[in-house]
Amino acid sequence: MSNIPIKPDNLVQFLGLSRDDLRLLDQHWGLFAQGAETLARDFYHYLFSHPATAATFRDYSEAQIEALIQRQAEHGYGLLHNRLDASWQMAMQQLGAKHHYLGIDPAWLAGAYTIYWRHWQPVLEKFVPAQDRSQLGRILISLLMGDLMCQLSGYARASRETDSERSAVFDVLLDTLASTRMENNTENSSLLQVLCERLPRKSRYITLAGYFLCSHQGHDVLTLEASAGMRLAKPTLSFASEDPCWVALKQNQIVVQLTDDPSAPQWIQQLRPRVKELVFLPFASGDLQGVGFIGARAEGYFQRIGSDYFEAFAHLGEIVLQLRNRMLRDPLTKVPNRLLFMDRLEIARRQASREESLLGVVLLDLDGFKPVNDRFGHGAGDRLLVSITQRIRQCLRSGDTLGRLGGDEFGLLFPALSSLDDLDMVCARILEAVRKPLEMDGERVNVSASLGVTIYPLDDVSVETLLAHADLALYAAKNQGGDQLSLYSLTLDEAAQNAAKMRRTLEKGLQNHTLVLYYQPIINSFGGVSGVESLIRILDPEQGLLGPAAFWAGLDHHRYARDLGIFVMDAAFRQGQTWQQQGLSLRVSINISAHHLLDARFLSDLEAALAKYPGLAPEQIEIEITESAPLHDLSQAQERLNACNRLGVRIALDDFGTGNASLTYLQQLPAQSVKLDQSFVRDMINDPKDLAIVAAVITASRMLGLDVIAEGVETEAHAKLLAKMGCSHLQGYLFAKPMPGEDIPLWVQRFKGLGLGLPSHSSIDILPTLLEGHAQRTESFLQALCEQNTIPLHVLDEDAEDKCHLGRWLKGDGSLRFGDLPEFLPILQRHEKIHQLARQAKHFLDNGEKAKAMSLGSLLELENGKMIGELRELVYDEGELQAENHACGCDER
Ligand code: C2E
Ligand code: MG
Ligand code: MG
Repeated sequence: MSNIPIKPDNLVQFLGLSRDDLRLLDQHWGLFAQGAETLARDFYHYLFSHPATAATFRDYSEAQIEALIQRQAEHGYGLLHNRLDASWQMAMQQLGAKHHYLGIDPAWLAGAYTIYWRHWQPVLEKFVPAQDRSQLGRILISLLMGDLMCQLSGYARASRETDSERSAVFDVLLDTLASTRMENNTENSSLLQVLCERLPRKSRYITLAGYFLCSHQGHDVLTLEASAGMRLAKPTLSFASEDPCWVALKQNQIVVQLTDDPSAPQWIQQLRPRVKELVFLPFASGDLQGVGFIGARAEGYFQRIGSDYFEAFAHLGEIVLQLRNRMLRDPLTKVPNRLLFMDRLEIARRQASREESLLGVVLLDLDGFKPVNDRFGHGAGDRLLVSITQRIRQCLRSGDTLGRLGGDEFGLLFPALSSLDDLDMVCARILEAVRKPLEMDGERVNVSASLGVTIYPLDDVSVETLLAHADLALYAAKNQGGDQLSLYSLTLDEAAQNAAKMRRTLEKGLQNHTLVLYYQPIINSFGGVSGVESLIRILDPEQGLLGPAAFWAGLDHHRYARDLGIFVMDAAFRQGQTWQQQGLSLRVSINISAHHLLDARFLSDLEAALAKYPGLAPEQIEIEITESAPLHDLSQAQERLNACNRLGVRIALDDFGTGNASLTYLQQLPAQSVKLDQSFVRDMINDPKDLAIVAAVITASRMLGLDVIAEGVETEAHAKLLAKMGCSHLQGYLFAKPMPGEDIPLWVQRFKGLGLGLPSHSSIDILPTLLEGHAQRTESFLQALCEQNTIPLHVLDEDAEDKCHLGRWLKGDGSLRFGDLPEFLPILQRHEKIHQLARQAKHFLDNGEKAKAMSLGSLLELENGKMIGELRELVYDEGELQAENHACGCDER
């Protein structure tokens, strides 16, 4: 029944009002209309005096109430005058709807209609002729009833509409929420957009829905993320304190705005006439903030539907921001990831150019992170990253940004710097914070940071280039040893461009097959040619012969290192085999870059090349690993080089002394040669520090039984001094410059006749020190046998005779000095026997046969005494011989 609309004629009929009735009303209506205003005042007085109805008008001002009374008076007048005609009924239905919108309960209102009757009844009795009284009374009551019916009908219809509107909005919200699948982040991040698209489609009143986001707290631009139903003229909204959108955001409360409010911002007024009322709904998560907006075609819409329905919009917005936060943040450290960092960089750059302030852009990379990760495992590596992140954050101001860009690389933004000193200070704090030791599984671990810095707008380039410049500076900081900052400068850029050019040169060489190998002889300290080092050249059709200086940056580049290495192995081994076939047996050294060595395919590359040239024995090949290119993965390198040794291939540590890990490399890498860098050799005559380094490296190498090759020997004075210090091999322009392979045989032939006259052994005698060490070890071994103490290291190993102090000397320096003498062999045999006895004695001791162990111990002591005696005799004889030679001047032939 409630759905049947009231039609004007129907209503009059329904109330039983005839034409006669209406005519009678026409005759008398003026009597009742006179008191319309008094009636209206009484009407409101009545409403105010009852709590149930008074509450509705609590917030009305006096002026508003007066206006209501006037309208009520007009109502009373109109009701009598219009006789429930069509326009009256329509107006009453609208009034009913309005009551609904205003939340005025129709039941109480209907009750208040008794006031009409209270006014009209005395008029009826006093002024209407008796014969008309009862008919007119019935007519008046019908009028009141009809009036109420229209209002109630309007009220009910509005209420139905509200309900269906609410359920439409509710359905949209529910559908959207139901499609939330927590595990699917990408889909969920568009939830709010879906909601915005559905609202104007499903609702009869909503004509516009969308939302703005601003990605950085404290930031002053809102960006339109989605809008549906209508197109918004403005994709971004700069901060304006009066803009209701910003008011909602800043005060974190829902704001309703009418579009015809003259004080509303232009962009809102432009939404008329399709939008009459707008609501702004703020939401936030982390430092992301957003404002949703919904536009309705009717005023009062949001009050009518209720804010609860739209708060769900904000709630959904929050979910979306949470997801977005998750997508934009590094899950481990919770700081912005690369995506968000780039966004912030973009914003900070714009802000800096608007405000003419300085923006510091910094890339941070940890030094020494990988070894920690390798040693303690990824879990520990993660913990380290988290605690380093916390430390860095503590150094930052509130507007600064820290992001993790990947692995152990971080990005930092320092907006609004007042001076470069500010940046310098904060960077120093960060370096210090990272440098502090950390505990990992009960051990102290040290890492440090390298910082690459650039400053906008001093460096006035795009965000991508800013990062590229910071990266260049970072690279420079790393190259200078890490634990420091480097500021981007044009020189760095030039260096980068130069490097790119060098890489192109090498790439072209590889592509056009213009690479060639030159060879430089290596001389042993007796004046013989022991081998050659292959050195790469490019035979450029235009520029002629190019040395590595022209393509240096490409040599250890991941893109070319392996191709180059394969070329070098092939060309050098082929050349070595050819010489061998010509009767010239030379050791061939090749330079291999760190990148190729650490490439998983390195060993198979080497094996393939060895197999291809069987005429060259693996023992004739030496791989030079340069120290200046850091080996990022030392244990991997160690493993690879051990495998090379197992194949028979020798290892040399090239450019020794130039890197910052010389001693670590010497200790950890299985090398047979050390190549003293030419920078020390060049100045050793004039610079005592260089001489000390040269002497130290030579001595250490000799004690370890390694060959020492001095590079860059240019004068005879250098050669002599080096040989005197016991340097076993020399290489340099003094003997020959690098030359094509086919020139080598002739050169070797000629060189033989040169006669260098180098002293045959060093004036720095390391033997006494070694013998002292040996004596102490023997003694502590014997003691260990008696008292079952710990046995000194390397005494019992399978190959102990090669690895112990004396063993290394016997194989290296010793055999160089005395290898040709018949007395030397028994010494070697005795040394071996001593180790055998030691192993046997330990075996008996372990089996509880102490007496047998002790007797072997005595035997060992005896053998040792004999060996030392023989060794001393050999050295003494040599000394005598030298003295004689010296006396007759033969030493300096
Ligand atoms: P390096 O391995 O230390 O090679 C020795 C360098 O010193 C060579 O420079 C050689 O020509 C130069 N040299 C030799 N004797 C003297 C001397 O008495 N005085 C002076 N001033 N210099 C001397 P080069 O050929 O320019 O090579 C430079 C570097 O390029 C090499 O240093 C090596 O690190 C790298 N390199 C050369 N060939 C290859 C290669 O085939 N592969 C790789 N990965 N790197 C290579
Ligand atoms: Mg070399
Ligand atoms: Mg070198």
